[in-house]
Amino acid sequence: MQLKTDLYIDGAWVKGDGTLPVTDPSTGSVIAEVATAGEAHCDAAVTAAHNAFKTWSKTAPRVRSEILRKAFELMIAEADHLAKIVSMENGKVFSDAKGEITYAAEFFRWFAEEAVRTPGDYRQAPSGDKRILVTHQPIGVSLLITPWNFPAAMATRKIGPALAAGCTVILKPASETPLTALAIIEILERAGVPKGVVNFILPSKTGPMISKMLHDPRVRNLSFTGSTEVGRTLLKESADNVLRTSMELGGNAPFVVLDDANIDDAVAGAMLAKMRNGGAACTAANRFIVAKSVAEEFTTKFAKAMGALKLAPGLEDGAQLGASVSIKERNKIADLVSAAVKAGGKLILGGTTPEGAGAFYPATVVTVDKANPILNNEVFGPVAPIVTFDGDAEAIELANSTEYGLISYVYSSDLKRAIKTAEAIESGMVAINRGVISDPAAPFGGVKQSGLGREGGFAGIYEFLETKYIGVEI
Ligand code: NAP
Repeated sequence: MQLKTDLYIDGAWVKGDGTLPVTDPSTGSVIAEVATAGEAHCDAAVTAAHNAFKTWSKTAPRVRSEILRKAFELMIAEADHLAKIVSMENGKVFSDAKGEITYAAEFFRWFAEEAVRTPGDYRQAPSGDKRILVTHQPIGVSLLITPWNFPAAMATRKIGPALAAGCTVILKPASETPLTALAIIEILERAGVPKGVVNFILPSKTGPMISKMLHDPRVRNLSFTGSTEVGRTLLKESADNVLRTSMELGGNAPFVVLDDANIDDAVAGAMLAKMRNGGAACTAANRFIVAKSVAEEFTTKFAKAMGALKLAPGLEDGAQLGASVSIKERNKIADLVSAAVKAGGKLILGGTTPEGAGAFYPATVVTVDKANPILNNEVFGPVAPIVTFDGDAEAIELANSTEYGLISYVYSSDLKRAIKTAEAIESGMVAINRGVISDPAAPFGGVKQSGLGREGGFAGIYEFLETKYIGVEI
């Protein structure tokens, strides 16, 4: 398989100062050595993006749109190849990887359509003394930092709106999964993105080098997806130059099953909400909050469905649950389960780390009480803690007892009751009687410590635009 492994700066593939090994977490073997950027490379990427901004920001929206549309078409045509790269470096199963590529490509299509639709405003001032003109302009050089769990979609969800808006970008992927990002950069190059508009770096020392870039006055915008902990650090770093920031951070999604829910539907939805991406999703259902009267039926059926999943390397035929991204991440999951059991949790399924070199962890179901520590942690793996409640008020209280607020799930056969519950839950997104609601055409984002700003939908492009007001004497 042909893999890109060099840095991409100012329209050229360049060698770095060193290399970083990328491993296949299913086997622990090294797949590729990717070039790492030194300080000079990071600076060159900022210079390239800064220079290219002068022309890209003035390029006709229709031209920007057509390049993004071409990138969408190339991604779809090469979806199998791209999905293999995702699965190899991330560990997720091929079907999840293919689903991610399709979802990722859709951000290019959606923002190709949005590029030519940015609205403006022209009004008479209420006092009658002038005209109010409101327009939107691209912010400038944008640094995009992405996590390992969706190495394709988190990149396109930022690159799409940035390019549509007229911004130039520097993409920095997670160290575990740079190969997918590089493959996307190569697609953008083939789609006709002019030199300097998109740049790729993988700093040899992430923290200090990103900090230096955030203090470079030519960088005006930071779009970050990752953990709340790193997000907090980057918000502090961004304060010095008062950068525009978008923060898509961690989650601790409640999956609420009310007592009138159709349990078979709830189990099917729970499988999607929990197990898409092997549980390594910010949107993954992290706490199953189930009405006492239906808890036994739900737990039995859910554990049966979870237990039927085939745990195997992502590219193996029939694999339904792949490896975690690394042994370190897998061990974090195992530690959270051990702590949950120590605190009185009862294992219904799984909970034992398999032998071998791969970063595997089995589908696990554990019933816990309200005080169990696992309910306060983002598990990021195939583990489903179930806690019970009496009455809708207690369900809402449990759902809201977290610092996070990204997404929630509600199951009920009474739509009015489900909507009332959805409105009372503190999260940026709520899924009613569905296990997945992520959609490039919808605003994705969280409240509380799950982040700031929205990606996708009509809102996504504004993360890369400044509003400008021009007052005109008439
Ligand atoms: P992470 O540890 O926060 O890393 C995310 C990115 O930040 C990586 O590229 C990482 O680079 C970089 N980074 C780490 N420390 C940094 C620093 N001091 N300065 C600048 N960059 C730094 O998160 P992760 O483990 O990759 O991803 C999992 C997290 O992402 C979960 O919490 C999940 O909920 C969240 N997530 C949120 C969304 C959303 O839309 N809300 C979507 C997906 C994932 P290195 O790899 O080089 O350290």
